[in-house]
Amino acid sequence: MPPAPPPGPPSATLLCVHPHPDDEAIACGGVLARAADQGVRTVVVTCTGGEEGDNLAGIDLGGEDLVTHRRRELAAALAALRVSAHHWLGYRDSGMAGLESNDHPESFHRAGLSEAAARLAAIIRTERPEVVVSDDERGTYGHPDHVKAHHVTVAAVDLAADPEAEVPGDPWRVAKRYVHTLGRGRLLAVHSALVEAGLPSPFGDAGLTRVEDVPLGVPDEQVTTEVDVADWLDAKRAALAAHASQIGPDSFFLNTPEVLTERMFATEQFVLEDGRPGTTAAREDDLFAGLDHGPAGRQ
Ligand SMILES: [Zn+2]
Repeated sequence: MPPAPPPGPPSATLLCVHPHPDDEAIACGGVLARAADQGVRTVVVTCTGGEEGDNLAGIDLGGEDLVTHRRRELAAALAALRVSAHHWLGYRDSGMAGLESNDHPESFHRAGLSEAAARLAAIIRTERPEVVVSDDERGTYGHPDHVKAHHVTVAAVDLAADPEAEVPGDPWRVAKRYVHTLGRGRLLAVHSALVEAGLPSPFGDAGLTRVEDVPLGVPDEQVTTEVDVADWLDAKRAALAAHASQIGPDSFFLNTPEVLTERMFATEQFVLEDGRPGTTAAREDDLFAGLDHGPAGRQ
């Protein structure tokens, strides 16, 4: 059992928006589990059912269709992270960029921005989160649904606060809006350690040696917030393992060499895009930093 962090008042709420079932575990599993232990109410919104995900790990679905199965996997992952509430935004997975599934009329990619934002704004008004987290504007790795999740979240946060907006519920102003991210220095360190250990790297084994050549993430100086989630890695791993059709037992996520675990997973990184930073230090260490009603603001 991790040591109990200082409790936060039950009024504090963290809401994370993710395009597909499994993204919540990959991107925010640590902060969600940590927040739950702090007594923060946690909410996950999943934009699509992950219809285009395929049974990547080739597991036996027991006669179930993949979408039903992925719902069950998500429920298990949310339980592992002790998430308080879950909402579907109700769209269809668009698939990777350029696929025919991008054009499906119910795809998230095709969804009107204002219509999707209004759906999310209604959830925000219901859940009243102080802190909202989503993908960055490049969709982390460029998947159309991840890009869309960013734009929909930005618009929804504005809409939820707008008293003129035609959205059910009372206006609610989110205090801090973040995007989850990965600093390039950290990605390069992970890559170098993998190459050194003779293990396959997601960036290939070619001559990636300069931080400016890392194709994902942001320059380290853009990271505003780094949360220590080392004590919640078991919960994060359990959530990842729950998505067995997407993250098989041979997956890199579940077989990270011990030497890399700390470097890769012990912290989760964010950029504060909207709202006031809660510290004058170089980086915040808590998403609720500076908020009176958040755990870090408690005296
Ligand atoms: Zn995804």
